[in-house]
Amino acid sequence: MIRVILRSGFIMILLSVTVAQADTKICPQCGTVNWIDAKFCKDCGYEFGTNEPTVSPEPEDTRTLEEVLQDATQAFNAKKWEEALEHYERLIELDPGNVLAKEKASECRENITEEKKRREAMEKATREKEEYDSWRTGAMEQRNYRTQTAKGLLETGKVKEAGKYILPAFAGDYDWKPGRELLKEALEKSD
Ligand SMILES: [Zn+2]
Repeated sequence: MIRVILRSGFIMILLSVTVAQADTKICPQCGTVNWIDAKFCKDCGYEFGTNEPTVSPEPEDTRTLEEVLQDATQAFNAKKWEEALEHYERLIELDPGNVLAKEKASECRENITEEKKRREAMEKATREKEEYDSWRTGAMEQRNYRTQTAKGLLETGKVKEAGKYILPAFAGDYDWKPGRELLKEALEKSD
């Protein structure tokens, strides 16, 4: 009998330990274990958020003034403007009267803006070229279609019909040889 009680007591402890691990949370204010869905700590009344932040704080910047200046100069010389700006801003934090750091920081900002403009101009040019290429491809396909149709019509003697396809097939390029040949053929057949 005692053994049974002991054993069931042991199982109860096991169960409660498992439950405690799975379904509880610890109050960040007083350390009391609370049920997972508790809105307030049962001991100190701390209000649990819906999602307790678990993000660890950023490591503290312990660099000396000289080290920050060195990092800033290095990044600046390597034209890593955004990185350099961060270092110069840290330098100004440490040494608010540092005029050189302020000048360098604004130089970084100007360069970041310049680079952004250049990048945007390049993206615009690429986009326009792609649009032109796709228009050109479409135009070429249309020209091929018109040329083939005109050839077929000429072969069956439908000269007038063919004429409707030949001129548009030039698409403004009147030095286009296949078009001239088609046109010549059409003129000969229309005699
Ligand atoms: Zn608490």
